[in-house]
Amino acid sequence: MTQSDAVIALTRQLLAFDTINPPGQEAACVRFCARALETAGFTCQVIDHLPERSSLIAVRGATPGLCFSGHLDTVPLGQMAWSCAPFDGEITDDRLYGRGSSDMKGGVAAFIVAAQATTASASVILTCGEETGCDGARWLTENSALPPARAMVVGESTDNQPVAGHKGALWLELTSQGVTAHGATPDLGRNAITAMAPTLARLAGWQPDYAHADMGRATCNLGTLSAGINTNSVPDHCRLTVDLRSVVGVSHEALTAELRALCGAEVSIKPIIDLPPVWTDPSERWFRDACQTVIGMTDHNTLRSSVNYFTDASLLQPAMGVPVMILGPGQVDQPHVTDEYVRIPRLVEAVALYSSLIEASA
Ligand SMILES: [Zn+2]
Repeated sequence: MTQSDAVIALTRQLLAFDTINPPGQEAACVRFCARALETAGFTCQVIDHLPERSSLIAVRGATPGLCFSGHLDTVPLGQMAWSCAPFDGEITDDRLYGRGSSDMKGGVAAFIVAAQATTASASVILTCGEETGCDGARWLTENSALPPARAMVVGESTDNQPVAGHKGALWLELTSQGVTAHGATPDLGRNAITAMAPTLARLAGWQPDYAHADMGRATCNLGTLSAGINTNSVPDHCRLTVDLRSVVGVSHEALTAELRALCGAEVSIKPIIDLPPVWTDPSERWFRDACQTVIGMTDHNTLRSSVNYFTDASLLQPAMGVPVMILGPGQVDQPHVTDEYVRIPRLVEAVALYSSLIEASA
């Protein structure tokens, strides 16, 4: 079988596992990948976090090499009907369709085929639960021995363009409590909406004052607001969720403190997701060499400094202390869309890129 046939076949096999998260159910897909990596000389450790929720750490060789990071869960199919079967891996022209084809079973398949074509030291971390806030990566960093590595490639969708980082995500839940009463006697209650209102007004005009030369500005979005059960009651609970995107140079503690200073005393704050930004200085030696390799093998002339999504590297990079490149065959505009696809030439190209980086990083 040619490498091209192999990566197409493996991507289609991975797509056939329904790993939509929630609920996830990645365990069978994780074990399938472990068997494929064992044929390439990897020692595989499947870690069962919860029933049907597993991650994989696979290691080949005694010296630290390239570590590949990927996730096996996908987002749901969405409300719109698909025009192709989302688990069948249908091929039309140079597109391979399916939920997770770009994000990111195509990248995982390309790395496994590259691993089978090489013999140098390397390691693989495949997680569950990435789409709901890097749950699998969090469980791994809290409880498991991560593999030694020289550097990490995260196989998320970049059209095979090297990417140096991404913003952090800090999602906060702001709540105010009140006391309910009949709507005709508001003086007998305490209104949770009224309690939230001054905070909401201040946050509406606020953006965090931090910027990074390459990553751009930190941002704040007010995402959801809910309160009250009906018009004729005094609401006793109000909930506002806030999506902060951070850049290197500002801690999430500092961001939270700045936001807290804008909140009234009756508003309490709780984190929902707390994922720091990822950044590798492009002049770092491994990164610079890897970048040159990728640019020499693709139609890209330059690296891209940052992408808009977050990845497991938010948790894995601080735990492992390695340079990270985000590099994968998925198309940047494909994650989470209806009729998601990956371009087959990018899949085949990714096998060559990952093979070169495995050999060069050992
Ligand atoms: Zn992804």
